Amino acid sequence: MSFRIGQGIDFHQLVEGRDLWLGGVLIPHTKGALGHSDADVLLHAICDAMLGALGLGDIGLHFPDTDPNYKGIDSKVLLQRCYGMMREHGYGIVNIDSTILLQAPKIRPHVEQMRNTMALILHLPVDAISIKATTTERLSFIGREEGIVATANVLLQKI
Ligand code: MG
Repeated sequence: MSFRIGQGIDFHQLVEGRDLWLGGVLIPHTKGALGHSDADVLLHAICDAMLGALGLGDIGLHFPDTDPNYKGIDSKVLLQRCYGMMREHGYGIVNIDSTILLQAPKIRPHVEQMRNTMALILHLPVDAISIKATTTERLSFIGREEGIVATANVLLQKI
């Protein structure tokens, strides 16, 4: 069997007046992530991990933030496109493990909805998708609630 592994990381600023989209889910909060798209840091990290596993570059190459077509785009559409590229290359996902780094709000109440949302797009059982979250104990730009980070690892299998 042929396996490929990928990792992704993404950063966005948190600002007032923006929605906070995470894992394809709108999270109630006083701030949201700033970006050209909906700035869903978790889906971007997962897209990058999938593209990385395939050796296809990164999300900025395929969906440039200078392209008006991607302004305000729902990152679930980007994830769907990455899924399509992966299938065209003959691969499927074995599992995803991810971590969101943010000070607030609490993410755990939303994790099941995020997993279900991604499972539908990626044609995966929910237990193949892990989403963890941690604060940085108020350290750094994350602890000051100025930004949010997500990391993801994916394992692909030739099918
Ligand atoms: Mg991003």
